[in-house]
Amino acid sequence: MRIKDLEQQIAQTVRLEDVVRRYAELFRGSKSGKTLRCDCLFHRDDSKSFRIKVTEQIYECCICKETGNVIDLVQSLVGCNDTEALYILADWFEIPIDETDTLFVQKNKRQVNDSDNASLLHSIHENRELNMILESLGYDVGNNPLLTACHKYLGLGVSPEVLPDKYERLAGAMLFPIRDGEGVLQGFLKYKAEEKGKECICYPPNLADSCLLGLYQAIKAIEKLGFVYLVWNYNDLLTMHIAGFTNTVACYNGSLTSQQIDLLLKYTNRVVIIHTSEVSKQVRATKTAARLSFASAVPYCLSLSKKNIPTLYKWMGAAKFEYFIRQSTRLVFLNALKDKWLIEQQTLSKRSNDAKSKEEKIELRSKLVVLRNKLDKLFTILDENCDYLCRYFE
Ligand SMILES: [Zn+2]
Repeated sequence: MRIKDLEQQIAQTVRLEDVVRRYAELFRGSKSGKTLRCDCLFHRDDSKSFRIKVTEQIYECCICKETGNVIDLVQSLVGCNDTEALYILADWFEIPIDETDTLFVQKNKRQVNDSDNASLLHSIHENRELNMILESLGYDVGNNPLLTACHKYLGLGVSPEVLPDKYERLAGAMLFPIRDGEGVLQGFLKYKAEEKGKECICYPPNLADSCLLGLYQAIKAIEKLGFVYLVWNYNDLLTMHIAGFTNTVACYNGSLTSQQIDLLLKYTNRVVIIHTSEVSKQVRATKTAARLSFASAVPYCLSLSKKNIPTLYKWMGAAKFEYFIRQSTRLVFLNALKDKWLIEQQTLSKRSNDAKSKEEKIELRSKLVVLRNKLDKLFTILDENCDYLCRYFE
């Protein structure tokens, strides 16, 4: 079956509301039933901001402004490209597809990745002069106390004032060297204070898609602790490292690429995404978590208040900040465990209800009792910790 045919068949068979129903309970949004509503799938919501226009087969959220059709929805929630979304929908709604086509899609995808790598290697070779810039980097990072404390460790510095024509735009800028897992220099990210709001510049340009900030320096701690913190810019990264959370890397490009996910998976599959409570940041975290799950990683979301990481650090001070992140991380892991156990509980109680023999029933019931006791203890711990952490924001 050709992709176009599959697309057409999905448009005819799959209803957007049926896909949304997999994630949330739907409510009537209008008398006619032409609009359906539910809590938003992309941001923390309890006012049913997510609307489905049934006739148009379009969704939109009036708060976070996420909008699209059924393919867009699957792409965002599962974390895949449009072709993969078609195959996923075909699977969910039991639309038969030809196996050989699926293989073709996967093969195609891999070829694209290989050619990306080839061009990256080529540009590293071309940009060998970058080494010269690194060697002559000064360590003048102004009077930002956060930067002076760990810039040397992360290799951050200010480039020389005079550089060859090709690299003039790097002159006098703050540079963040990017290294691979062996510590070999791959290129730079450039930041300039007065360019606030602009995205950082990358040399070579495609480096932004294939590398993570601080990964080389974080590898040891990631392997030791078994998880990685993911933050969103170099300031967040520096603050985390300075506070002792050296298993932190930063994505500086909006969303994680599949190359970056592959890179992380080399060291760990557990990723704690730290984000603020702003709606746009919640949406980014939701989508990132989806992409990670799709790649068989285990994502956790750690939501801060409206304050970002450096602001929290300044506001709380080093000791409180460290305690806060440590406890919040613990809560995130415990909550995930709670969700896992709740599902186990559901399955067990269903199995015990369906059990035919008396012996089997008894065995399942006693397992259920053990699980309930564990859950009770977990709920107590969660309540105590939640209260404690909430006090930080009163
Ligand atoms: Zn929303």
